[in-house]
Amino acid sequence: MPTPDLPRLQAAYTVILNALGTELPDLVLQRTPERAARALCDLAAGYRTDPAQIVQRIDQDLDDGAQRSCSGDGLVAVRSLGFVSLCRDHLLPFSGCASIAYQARRAADSLTLLEVGSLAELVRVLGRRLQLPELLALDLVRVLAQVQGVAGVLVRVRVEQVCLGHIGAGYRGAIVSEEASGTLRDIGVAGRAQKLLD
Ligand SMILES: [Zn+2]
Repeated sequence: MPTPDLPRLQAAYTVILNALGTELPDLVLQRTPERAARALCDLAAGYRTDPAQIVQRIDQDLDDGAQRSCSGDGLVAVRSLGFVSLCRDHLLPFSGCASIAYQARRAADSLTLLEVGSLAELVRVLGRRLQLPELLALDLVRVLAQVQGVAGVLVRVRVEQVCLGHIGAGYRGAIVSEEASGTLRDIGVAGRAQKLLD
């Protein structure tokens, strides 16, 4: 995974501060570029983890016996996994939460259930990239669709703190985006999954 070039980022922030044309105290000019560079790296930290490795680990956990006896049609919902992200259009942060419903794949009498921690990690990794709410929902669906134990997935991303650039463009309130794949693209099953996320 790529390592960010901190000195170049720092130099770029120095140029930005000077280009603002504002008389800034020396302390700001000395310290802010470094802090801003580190903050940007932190908000883009998701690029340093390959989501395929998380999928691999989830599959491995399932192989190691995470199957549980469960009745019903295997619909599971995990709600409100928080994230902070970086707007692709304005390079400004936005935050929200992702809710995930999936239909576990049935094998004999068992259903494969995913660890909530792995789902939260996936949201964190894909969130800390250059994103838009709708892209994050799509990325999560694409990655989760690769998990062996998942027959279908529905992701709802709700962004409460829209980036300042979007507010300037006239947006107000929350942005909600939803994507689905597999069995949860079926209207009947998806309807039940959506109720779990409401
Ligand atoms: Zn934006």
